[in-house]
Amino acid sequence: MADQIGLQCTECKRRNYVTTVNKKKQQKKLEKKKHCKWCKAHTLHKETK
Ligand SMILES: [Zn+2]
Repeated sequence: MADQIGLQCTECKRRNYVTTVNKKKQQKKLEKKKHCKWCKAHTLHKETK
């Protein structure tokens, strides 16, 4: 039941990561601080399809 989702940088809107989540356990939108190679900094990444 794992769904694949992308993690999009909220600064440059680029999709930098792909991860899987269990939608039944993960109710809220996923938000993670990750390193964006385009911004060259740690930025907030949000779930995208
Ligand atoms: Zn970025």
